Amino acid sequence: MNGKLINDCFDAVYVALVTHTDEIAQLDQQIGDGDHIYNLIRGLEALRAIRPQIETAEFGEALRLAANKVLSTVGGSSGPLLASLLLGMSRTAPQECTVAEVANMYVAGVAALQQRGKTGKGSKTMMDVLIPVAERFRELVDQGATVDEILVELPREAERGMLSTRDMLALKGRASFLGERSLGHIDPGARSSQVIITALCAHIADSREPTEPCHEEIS
Ligand code: ADP
Ligand code: MG
Repeated sequence: MNGKLINDCFDAVYVALVTHTDEIAQLDQQIGDGDHIYNLIRGLEALRAIRPQIETAEFGEALRLAANKVLSTVGGSSGPLLASLLLGMSRTAPQECTVAEVANMYVAGVAALQQRGKTGKGSKTMMDVLIPVAERFRELVDQGATVDEILVELPREAERGMLSTRDMLALKGRASFLGERSLGHIDPGARSSQVIITALCAHIADSREPTEPCHEEIS
């Protein structure tokens, strides 16, 4: 796994988010200030501008470059939070990308994000998607699930988490100012996180050799 794979993953995320722009903007207009998706798209466009640097970097360095770019271009709460996720992942980036190591890296990224955002599950944020996916990823790896199984299961977990935010009271971020009025709306950060995870899993599934046996190596 290298910078090229990272660029391809960012491209897949970019396309997916662009496709869901209006819908996520609407969610954020209901319980936030409407800028969440535009913040994310600005960040991904900035990442496209540094494609050559990412392409030639080692895996960990590519993620670190991306984290810095996201920090300097993505506004709102989500910029620093997602930069922490990428930085946490970059610090644990493996040499050999086995599924177990990718899971560890993702879990470390979510832990770094959580340290910055100071909230776990149940506050009606992106954590309601990112944490259950981390827990499920770990569990699937521990159970010896195949890559194909993992790529099907994680998007399901992300969707469950995203939908769970509808009936939560927002306890963090801008939506928390609404109190009870935040009930009945899906959190925009949870939805964007779910779209991102689904796009990444689909991209990895599509780029795997069809004849490849379903075990360890992810690329
Ligand atoms: P802002 O609300 O500052 O305009 P964005 O629009 O960029 O920020 O992002 C809003 C999203 O950020 C929310 O939908 C929520 O998922 C997420 N969020 C807000 N605060 C936190 C936090 N402390 N931890 C995790 N996610 C958070
Ligand atoms: Mg906002």
